[in-house]
Amino acid sequence: MNEAKKPSVENVRREEARHVMNTFARNDVQFVEGSGMTLYDSEGRQYIDFLAGIAVCSLGHAHPALTATLRRQAGKLLHVSNYFYVEHRAETAAMIDALADGRIDKAAIIGESGCDYDSKCSDTAGWKTFFANSGAEANECAMKLARLHAKRNGRNANAIVCMRGGFHGRTLETVAATMQERLQRDFQPLPSGFIACSPNDETELERIFAEQGENICAVMLEPIQGESGVHPMTKSFMKTIRRLTSEHQALMICDEVQTGVFRCGSPFAFQIFDVVPDIFTMAKGIAGGVPMGACAAQADIADTFTPGDHGTTFGGSPLACAAARTVLSELSRGRFDKRVNETGAYLKKCLADLPNVVEVRGAGLMVGCDLADDMPDAHDVVADLLSKGFVVNATGPRTLRLLPPLICEKRHIDALVDALAKTLAGKEG
Ligand SMILES: *Cc1c(COP(=O)(O)O)cnc(C)c1O
Repeated sequence: MNEAKKPSVENVRREEARHVMNTFARNDVQFVEGSGMTLYDSEGRQYIDFLAGIAVCSLGHAHPALTATLRRQAGKLLHVSNYFYVEHRAETAAMIDALADGRIDKAAIIGESGCDYDSKCSDTAGWKTFFANSGAEANECAMKLARLHAKRNGRNANAIVCMRGGFHGRTLETVAATMQERLQRDFQPLPSGFIACSPNDETELERIFAEQGENICAVMLEPIQGESGVHPMTKSFMKTIRRLTSEHQALMICDEVQTGVFRCGSPFAFQIFDVVPDIFTMAKGIAGGVPMGACAAQADIADTFTPGDHGTTFGGSPLACAAARTVLSELSRGRFDKRVNETGAYLKKCLADLPNVVEVRGAGLMVGCDLADDMPDAHDVVADLLSKGFVVNATGPRTLRLLPPLICEKRHIDALVDALAKTLAGKEG
């Protein structure tokens, strides 16, 4: 290690401690550059990235197409407010519409050639999108839309059912929707109107609807819980939610902030479960690292909103939409549904074959991996892998979470699994 450069990370740590709010327990690494699956720190060390900025950098780092788009758009127009039309927004929304219907080839065409503006008989939209800047904001939009929809339909219903162990963001409303004591405890009073249900407990959900169905405007959940350690819902539970919400005129909202945009193989995870929600939200991976959140709703429900009901200053800017258009276009044209399913299956198999791994969960390239009880704390495993040049994440003392860029290849997986095997066997890399 280069002694002369070593203090730089320490200096940054000290200055951040002085000036930046202390909300994250950061690793002592400062990343300064990236390329594809690789990250470089300020000391010139090289890492393979299996976190992708928490499922954000879908195309990896410094992707040529995304870099070119950002350069071009930054030199042209960054922002004008939502009082005006801007380039790339209609295309991005039209691509989300196509992808939500599983029409990946159509999304690819829109991404490349734009909307067919001259067509007098273009398809009526199935889904309409509101653009925000983060996952929490996308969920705020979904919840406001669900409450407004109930009201405009003459229902006096405002309660939203959410799953224990779920995660929906850090604003007060999304913290209220996040049924985790630890995240709610010190922030009372939280906005009211939320009901907790245990994930995959159909009996409990039936009882909640039997007792309070009149007052429920939506069920909101992650098809696969991410922050709590990659815990998938069952198909049967998803179908029960769909049935109960429909029977009670309530809406089904899928929080696809982490699972969406090809992360789990299909464009959106609800497609794996063979259900169609009324609303779904996305964010992390959609613009490849440029902040963007989005809330999509079936058109008749989306049309509940009229000017003044909801808004944003930054959301849907030309820059963010140009980025999202490029990301969705690259993923669609490259048929990342197939690709992610293949690499994801390989990753899961390699992990499951390790002797000290007891369970592997998830879909596509969103994978949780439980370590045997006699293994070190997963956070120590993460630290050891970091020292060996691999960026991974732990969601708890027993669980590793892998969220590589979607461009991940088998050779990256082989390198990671080899390093992990050595770490778990207590060997130096
Ligand atoms: C990350 C995440 C959020 C919050 O997104 P932010 O962009 O941090 O606001 C919400 N829901 C899920 C499922 C997430 O994984």
